Amino acid sequence: MSAFTGVTVDREALIANYATVAEQVAPSGVVAVVKADGYGHGAVEVARALADAGADWLGVADLDEAVALRQAGIDEGVRILAWLHSPDEDFRRAAQYGITPAVSSVEQLSTAADADVPAVHLVVDTGLSRNGAVESEWPELFATAAALTRGGDRTRIEGVMSHLSNASRSDDLDQDAALQRALDGLAAVGIRPDVVHLAASAGSLALPETRRDLARVGLALYGLSPFPDRTSADLGLRPAMRVTAAVLRTIAVPAGDGVSYGYTWRAEQDTRLAVIGLGYADGFDRAYGNHVSVRIGDRRFPVVGRVAMNAMHVDIGDADVAVGDEVVLWGDPANGDPAVEEWADAIGTINYEVVARVGRSVERRTT
Ligand code: PLP
Repeated sequence: MSAFTGVTVDREALIANYATVAEQVAPSGVVAVVKADGYGHGAVEVARALADAGADWLGVADLDEAVALRQAGIDEGVRILAWLHSPDEDFRRAAQYGITPAVSSVEQLSTAADADVPAVHLVVDTGLSRNGAVESEWPELFATAAALTRGGDRTRIEGVMSHLSNASRSDDLDQDAALQRALDGLAAVGIRPDVVHLAASAGSLALPETRRDLARVGLALYGLSPFPDRTSADLGLRPAMRVTAAVLRTIAVPAGDGVSYGYTWRAEQDTRLAVIGLGYADGFDRAYGNHVSVRIGDRRFPVVGRVAMNAMHVDIGDADVAVGDEVVLWGDPANGDPAVEEWADAIGTINYEVVARVGRSVERRTT
């Protein structure tokens, strides 16, 4: 039988990673971040696994993602937080599906209250300059929050969040201090949120001071390291994503022949190529060609020539490789698979981007 072409997600690894992270950040809780289709792993399957692992909170960027999780059967026993909203969002979906919006502006807060959303978190910017309210906007936002919550019968400010830029330890601690100023500003108008959250994977694992009540963790739950100098294994994590492809055909190539578009690679000697059916339309960057290697059996072979739209080439020399054989692009290095970080390094990016970019065209299965 031919090998599987696609992404295999190891459910047990997700569950084990959740336990590892939860233990490490305790007594803080965890918001399990499953945005961007669960960093390319498949949000629904990941959410189910993490809910089974005991996750109380899931985090996504927007309400579309949150609603999709509810519609797929993630019930309201698991809270879902969504923090990035389109300008015309009216938040009625949040109330309808039991989703907690994290709001960044007076307008979003008022709109959520008008939609009878029972609880929101406030997003304050502490240095990332992204979607949170910046410090000059805090007085008006906090005054609006105080007015809305007076009497206790309308939208409650349940939480306050910010997001670290992870530039450096001192920058992150400066941001923690800025978050404290926001909390002091809220306290001055009588608002004391139940939960405060700031750190993501890197902050949670490296800077315990930034954990606060909840750690919003994405990457580490997928078993990957946010640190350039520490591997998954160093952190006690198991990469959950394995990408494999079947050999579609093998081709004999004489010495000197160029391969794939633009002939960026030529055979130095007579050799054989294996063609696999994953290309840049599936999220595998064109620039990987000549810079990464794959595993077939217990050996590594280079990807050669430019990655094409739907295919790439592997130089298999005279190895005993046949049509239908399994090619492993990346997986868990503890099992001998290439690390996703090799693919990231090859094109000057980070593991986050490589996994998140695996396209929706690629079949996913969970074991
Ligand atoms: N919190 C917010 C607001 C995010 O945008 C993200 C992802 O970028 C996370 C938490 C999770 O980050 P990480 O994957 O580094 O844990």
